[in-house]
Amino acid sequence: MTLVTRFAPSPTGLLHLGHAFSAVHATRLAREAGGRFLLRLEDIDRTRCRPAFEAAILADLAWLGLMPDAPPLRQSDARARHRAILEQLVARGLVYACTCTRGAIEAAAAPHAGETVPYPGTCRGRPPPADGTPFAWRLDLAQTGLSLVQQWQDVAAGPQQGRADLAGDPILWRKDGWPAYHLACVADDAAQGVTLVVRGRDLAAVTPLQRLLQELLGFPAPAYLHHRLLLAADGRRLAKRDRAETLAALRERGVDGTALADRLGALASTGPDLHLCL
Ligand code: GLU
Ligand code: ZN
Repeated sequence: MTLVTRFAPSPTGLLHLGHAFSAVHATRLAREAGGRFLLRLEDIDRTRCRPAFEAAILADLAWLGLMPDAPPLRQSDARARHRAILEQLVARGLVYACTCTRGAIEAAAAPHAGETVPYPGTCRGRPPPADGTPFAWRLDLAQTGLSLVQQWQDVAAGPQQGRADLAGDPILWRKDGWPAYHLACVADDAAQGVTLVVRGRDLAAVTPLQRLLQELLGFPAPAYLHHRLLLAADGRRLAKRDRAETLAALRERGVDGTALADRLGALASTGPDLHLCL
């Protein structure tokens, strides 16, 4: 079986060193195995994505010397394929129409500051409202009959498991008419034939739910590598809003992209999070 890895950034901001670390390790693992490295532009959040950020992603990868083995898959082009998956779940009676606003969910749960509230299932069993009220489609996890504790194989850490219901019943289709991240992500990992998902350990928490969706939809189970994170000088995680730490800023400062890629590739993909002095 050919190893296929992917880099799946969202063009909602400029990439930073942590993204470069992901892309470098995804490329390196594919190259070492004689496999393929693919690019996916996760541009389904139509209010936050910008063509300029997409252009910057392509420029950043070229600067790092990382060449995907196929043209990028742009998720906004795959809406009909994603919708067909949702319709299949509607027909199977596994999704319900949720009209709740985030504010209403939080008000009902009275969370502490900064806490995210699992969706309590308020709208479970409801059909779409007849009066045109906007609604999201949520997956009824209990109805799937699948185990809410899901296993996966991490290529560095071995067998892992975790709960798929940490956030409650997940949204699969958003009120704005676009697929939600989890649906689009598993659909496209399958469509691109991805066999190894390389991404930061901050995303490990979403893997049990994505494994459940793969099982529900009959998609193959990829292996995973949830790599260490790169930190800013003050020890915080890098974020897209840190303008000075972006790859675009390093490029403009004349940093050598391929030398940087070599340096990132020489670091172990796992271990404690770390700050890289440039
Ligand atoms: N688009 C996601 C992000 O940029 C990555 C999703 C993934 O790798 O599964 O955070
Ligand atoms: Zn609801």
